[in-house]
Amino acid sequence: MSLAVVGTMAFDNIETPFGKAENVIGGAATYIAWAASYFTKDIKIVSVVGEDFPQSEMDGLVERGATLDGVQIKKGEKSFFWSGRYHLDMNTRDTLVTDLNVLADFDPVLPESYKSSDFLMLGNLSPDVQMKVLEQMTERPKLVVMDTMNFWMDIAMDGLKAVLKKVDILTINDEEARQLSGEHSLVKAAKVIREMGPKYLVIKKGEHGALLFHGKEMFFAPALPLEEVFDPTGAGDTFAGGFIGYLAKTGDLSFESMKRAIIYGSALASFCVEKFGTERIKSITPKDIHERIGKFVTLMSFSSQETSLH
Ligand code: AMP
Repeated sequence: MSLAVVGTMAFDNIETPFGKAENVIGGAATYIAWAASYFTKDIKIVSVVGEDFPQSEMDGLVERGATLDGVQIKKGEKSFFWSGRYHLDMNTRDTLVTDLNVLADFDPVLPESYKSSDFLMLGNLSPDVQMKVLEQMTERPKLVVMDTMNFWMDIAMDGLKAVLKKVDILTINDEEARQLSGEHSLVKAAKVIREMGPKYLVIKKGEHGALLFHGKEMFFAPALPLEEVFDPTGAGDTFAGGFIGYLAKTGDLSFESMKRAIIYGSALASFCVEKFGTERIKSITPKDIHERIGKFVTLMSFSSQETSLH
């Protein structure tokens, strides 16, 4: 099934305890599209870049089956730039710079062929842009997933709450869930956030896995423990791309299917962190993904023997 993706396409400067990389290609839409491309070839990207964004990166996405008709290229302008520094735990980071550049006055225009996409991924970027994309869909997609971050909570909370009312699933990290809900307990936070609109909530906890909430149901998926984590940038977006990509491939929106989607998202994210930027997720094969899913199955299975307790 077709999947429309809106998000940033960006340059990132990344500092980890193990090294630095400058002007790495990143952005939410880039990671989401690469991850989803392992599941569906019908991906339609909505984004904006400056003249500085490499054509080769766009060609790479087209080769993976993505359509870029909805990506605006602004002559004489600079692409979105983000810079972050990871702490020793590699699970938390400080944003050092966010230069909106072309994103500051981005007015997304959906080509006709995008407007009836079956699935819509509102990747992390301004809630106003997310809303404009939603409003241009001529048919309500079967599923709308939204990602966001603290940056937008700080500067555009009202707009963010307006979009939340219109989406099916929100994916955010644990600290953002606390900020959005004002609750420390993630279970209470999940309740508060679902009252804001989305029926499903995914809380990403970095190396500590991800939680899925729906109605009274809850599911937890661990992150695969890895010997080396090189660069966590984009792991959340890669997770989202794997998650919605799996659902778009199967078309099955049951809770059981969402659980599997969480595992596929986690598997894709586990590749993302192994190298800087998109390098690793560009080089994996379906066999690599199947093998990693097998590792999750092993990691998560145990036999519950009846034990008499006193
Ligand atoms: P993640 O590590 O999954 O949170 O995603 C990191 C990516 O998000 C980087 O490639 C950045 O370019 C992009 N990014 C960082 N800040 C923002 C922001 N405020 N809006 C949109 N994208 C952002």
